[in-house]
Amino acid sequence: GKPIVAIVGRPNVGKSTLFNKISGKRIAIVEDRPGVTRDRIYIETEWLSHQFHLIDTGGIEPKSKEIIPAQMKRQAELAIETADVIIFLLDGREGLTANDREIASMLRKSGKPLLLVLNKVDNRESSPFYYDFFELGLGEPVEISSAMGLNIGNLLDEMVALF
Ligand code: GDP
Ligand code: MG
Repeated sequence: GKPIVAIVGRPNVGKSTLFNKISGKRIAIVEDRPGVTRDRIYIETEWLSHQFHLIDTGGIEPKSKEIIPAQMKRQAELAIETADVIIFLLDGREGLTANDREIASMLRKSGKPLLLVLNKVDNRESSPFYYDFFELGLGEPVEISSAMGLNIGNLLDEMVALF
């Protein structure tokens, strides 16, 4: 069947914004305020005639400062079990956090093909934390802005290369 791509990352890194940008529709819920959104969100789409399924694994997640580790683990497990390719999304403006490291360690153990992606790089300059992300041992980060639509084509090129 068509490859399954899952977007994984701690709350607020921009998973739903990226999902909407790639799908070209406003399906996932982008939420600034504390609250709960729908369960995992799923679409069938394509890039340059490569068809694939895309999952926003953060369908339900609280937008508070308090991140529930069990919820993050569940997301990562979901991605590891079901996805052929994982987009591991991080916040290029905030830099690496303990929660990022925790998700990274699960993904690293799984050996699933993945792209390390720094979101919220809204201008032409690299993230000030760019080199810190290499310590995750997950390869070279791809820098994007989901909100501004920057470098998304490059990300999708790298993604379909992993199919
Ligand atoms: P999620 O919790 O990972 O699904 O994150 P959301 O997609 O809900 O986005 C969380 C917040 O980050 C929202 O306020 C978005 O508008 C904002 N955001 C998402 N992508 C970008 C981006 O590329 N640049 C900036 N500056 N903000 C972004
Ligand atoms: Mg979301």
